[in-house]
Amino acid sequence: MNIILVSLDTLRSDRLTCYGYDKATTPYLDTIASQGVRFAEAYVSDIPTEVAHTGLFCGRWGAASGIVSHGHPYPALPKNVTWLPEALRRAGLTTAAVDNLYQLKSWFARGFRYYVNMASPHQRWVDGADVTQEAVDWLRQHYRTPFFLFVHYWDPHSPYLPPPGYFEQFYPSGRDPFDPARHDMDRAYNHLAYPFFKHHHYDLLGPVTDPEYLSARYDGEVRYLDDQLQRLDQTLVELGIWQDTWLILLADHGESLTEHDIFWDHCGLYQPTVHIPLIMRWPAGIPAGGTVSEFVQQIDVLPTIYEALEISTAEPVDGLSLWPLLAGGGRWPRDRVYLSECAWQAARGIRTASYKYIETLDAGVYERPPRELYRVSQDPGETHNLISAEPDLAGRFAEELRAWVAQWGESDPMLPIVQNGLPFVRRMDQILREVGVSWETWKRNPSRQWYDAMSGGPIPEEQPTKKPTRGGH
Ligand SMILES: [Zn+2]
Repeated sequence: MNIILVSLDTLRSDRLTCYGYDKATTPYLDTIASQGVRFAEAYVSDIPTEVAHTGLFCGRWGAASGIVSHGHPYPALPKNVTWLPEALRRAGLTTAAVDNLYQLKSWFARGFRYYVNMASPHQRWVDGADVTQEAVDWLRQHYRTPFFLFVHYWDPHSPYLPPPGYFEQFYPSGRDPFDPARHDMDRAYNHLAYPFFKHHHYDLLGPVTDPEYLSARYDGEVRYLDDQLQRLDQTLVELGIWQDTWLILLADHGESLTEHDIFWDHCGLYQPTVHIPLIMRWPAGIPAGGTVSEFVQQIDVLPTIYEALEISTAEPVDGLSLWPLLAGGGRWPRDRVYLSECAWQAARGIRTASYKYIETLDAGVYERPPRELYRVSQDPGETHNLISAEPDLAGRFAEELRAWVAQWGESDPMLPIVQNGLPFVRRMDQILREVGVSWETWKRNPSRQWYDAMSGGPIPEEQPTKKPTRGGH
């Protein structure tokens, strides 16, 4: 048996057709889902990218492993933490990654016999076609013996620059995305986070005035990613390993496309960022056509693989094996998920069938109430904060969250990072200092016009036509 674990960076669930989107962004992912099992209520554990993948590979919440952020002080992942690629290599699988996370944290190379590093000193971004090509090349050389291959796609991550022909089908022809009479982008352009995204995103798209244009470009990236997955899957057919290869596809986090004042980025514990796609297909091992509606999380992938390979570990694991759900009819003990983030903001939350409760330790560049409570079942947009209307319920959630964090020890690993300054707030401070502006000055009057004048150079008149390679944050 072979396993291919595919991370779909920044892919929010409701932009997949098989998760209910009304546009044809994912024809091939829909096919894969119909051949396997789709988890309708899959959630992140910790976000963003680095901590999400750490949880995926060690099966632990960040509060338990100590890895809650990619800021400083940043503890090393203890060597004795169980680590998926290491365990699979010990179990006799040839392990390989097509990825660039090793550039960010050294532990992402652990256990891989082959590590195809997609990072290049000349290119900041990683293109899905290059990822696919490397994965296909590796498969052609190694498919004859059981393997574990991890493949990491970055395509829906900003900047949204799909190749020509991909986003056009999602944007009305004849509509002018640069119409100077339109001011719908002003809130994003004059947001506190603007200096960061000016360089990473806005300047690469041209003087856009229509938010729908960015949304269409995001959809175009998803459609492009879908083509990459088709090519990868066709290779399995060509090599004759389609039947006995367990394909696991999931996002590390979603993306907020303006919701909650988060403009084309992934922070906040709201649904667009925490509700992720998770699809498994293994023709030889999992019945086709299933949909699972129970709550599952990223940290469940590791114990699921362990159970299939009969791997036992003495180290603690927080996730639960999904086999009772994959096999159908099994008892599932979880009725809630726990959520955590510590990059742009520091927050924790609980999601149940009806409610979501969020506590923000540090709002960073956003305006957030310290506590939020939403009846998500009736308020899917999470816009009506019930914290004052439902004080008893909020109190019970607060107590539950405290007890949940406290079970791993007296010190919460998120607190020193908050005390030291959130990593992206520190980065913002650095960006502003480069143009001679203090954070305090910027906070008083965040204005795109002013920052552009300070940083020099207008945004380009023409949108770029060449897709740069990718990286991300
Ligand atoms: Zn990510």
